[in-house]
Amino acid sequence: NLSGNAYCRQHEITVTGGEVPPPFSSFESTSFPSEILREVHNAGFSAPTPIQAQSWPIALQGRDIVAIAKTGSGKTLGYLLPGFMHLKRCRNDPQMGPTMLVLSPTRELATQIQEEANKFGKSSRISCTCLYGGAPKGPQLREIERGVDIVVATPGRLNDILEMRRISLHQVSYLVLDEADRMLDMGFEPQIRKIVKEVPTRRQTLMYTATWPKEVRKIAADLLVNPVQVNIGNIDE
Ligand code: ADP
Ligand code: MG
Repeated sequence: NLSGNAYCRQHEITVTGGEVPPPFSSFESTSFPSEILREVHNAGFSAPTPIQAQSWPIALQGRDIVAIAKTGSGKTLGYLLPGFMHLKRCRNDPQMGPTMLVLSPTRELATQIQEEANKFGKSSRISCTCLYGGAPKGPQLREIERGVDIVVATPGRLNDILEMRRISLHQVSYLVLDEADRMLDMGFEPQIRKIVKEVPTRRQTLMYTATWPKEVRKIAADLLVNPVQVNIGNIDE
């Protein structure tokens, strides 16, 4: 069993921020409840990926995070599982609006996140819907009305629905900007900023990105409070 420092060296994890908790090098060392650990076991996963190992304990403390790790490193569960714990603590009424909001650059990625949320959240009775453009709004509006814990959305479509006043973000207290670099490359910055204005400032904000160019650093500086930064491998600017 490796010490936190040895684990970080072995997996090229570097962290900046005060009093960072040691990584969870195994699923057994996490504090996730048995229904979630069962799903992870059913998925055939043997250990957390490095970004999960280091971002879980930080996210579970309620702190803001910037996580920089390449595609395929398991970032989705890195924010989803602590988000599930957050949902359990809040116990909000989903009919009043989502508690967790994930912004994602494309319909394909948003759909994959929703599938992951449904798969790992089903036994915890967590509900999730997906909002994206290029599809009729009607069914998406009905899902919102029915009430959901998690909304995964592309910035353009969510902004349209906000302008129609058909969703309320006043209950959101766990905000994820996934693939932040790609969202900015696609020109979504104005929509992201409008959406975040509708989210209460009393929230936890997590940003996941594959690269760390200055545009991403700027929006992180504006939207996150004292984030802990976690890097896996070399920072690719
Ligand atoms: P990223 O967002 O970093 O590109 P994903 O979250 O999409 O990566 O994960 C990539 C793949 O790895 C997915 O198929 C996911 O189910 C799988 N995965 C996630 N966590 C683990 C793990 N701990 N062990 C093995 N596979 C995992
Ligand atoms: Mg991803």
